Amino acid sequence: MDLSEKAKELVQKQIGEWDLVGRNYEGLRNVKVKTFDFGDFNIDIQYNPERIVSSVAKVDDQSIEDRSCFLCRVNLPSVQRWIPYGIDYVILVNPFPIFPEHLTIANVNHTNQRIFDNFETMLDLAVNLSKYVIYYNGPKCGASAPDHLHFQAGYKGFIPIEHDFSSEICCREVRTIDGVKVSHWPEYQRGIITLTSNNKSDLIAVFNKIYHQLLVTKHDEPEPMMNIIASFDRKSWTVHIFPRTEHRPRQFFESGENQIVLSPASVDMGGLLVTPREEDFLKITEEDVIDIFEQVCFDTQSVLNLINKL
Ligand SMILES: [Zn+2]
Repeated sequence: MDLSEKAKELVQKQIGEWDLVGRNYEGLRNVKVKTFDFGDFNIDIQYNPERIVSSVAKVDDQSIEDRSCFLCRVNLPSVQRWIPYGIDYVILVNPFPIFPEHLTIANVNHTNQRIFDNFETMLDLAVNLSKYVIYYNGPKCGASAPDHLHFQAGYKGFIPIEHDFSSEICCREVRTIDGVKVSHWPEYQRGIITLTSNNKSDLIAVFNKIYHQLLVTKHDEPEPMMNIIASFDRKSWTVHIFPRTEHRPRQFFESGENQIVLSPASVDMGGLLVTPREEDFLKITEEDVIDIFEQVCFDTQSVLNLINKL
């Protein structure tokens, strides 16, 4: 049995034996979704009340220090099972799903969420969990455990960017660096750098160049702010990198009518925005979506400038 099938089996098993998981995966079947049509692409909005915990998670140093880490093995509920992955990771079912199969791949040690030395692990996961897309949220870009290294995985074909990638209107190849194709998304409302290659070490080398370019924009964050979505198909990786400027948009901190509780992470960057409150799901507009992306993402020109400096 390959790892994707083992993971699928793990989800099914946990749905049957863990009440919270059973309830939340059942709830996901009736989840409300609405779609905004931006012409060349769509954005989906998912009303998902169970995600409130993650969306409003306090990730400042003091709050993190004061809580017990939900990814450390000693704190996992006794009903939680895992599949070992290599010697450093375990594959867990995410009890608060966005996808019909939603995994968390957590390091076995309580070590900080950082991508630089762990990008290769992400690429390997994309190969080994071949039916899944792998997600990375930076410590101030949607990760609710910034102190415990982890990735997420969701079944392929669920978020808009996956099919928009094959549209030449949305995504254009602009350069080839060391054999790695580099593309950008000129009219997609958020700055994205997409890398495609069938060579892992070339891909890591180009990613490292991007990381070092982004270091210039880092202020007091632990690493350049970014989300990453990676997948592996037909012997080649596709990696979407979303450089970030803000953790949360202005609307998150507003009160009353003006508030929209939306804390963008990689799934949102990929075109599936998750609103845990029904009122936000109902009132959010296309203009809000553009405004939120403008606040938290690089614009497309800045991304193009960055690509040209590589
Ligand atoms: Zn931990």
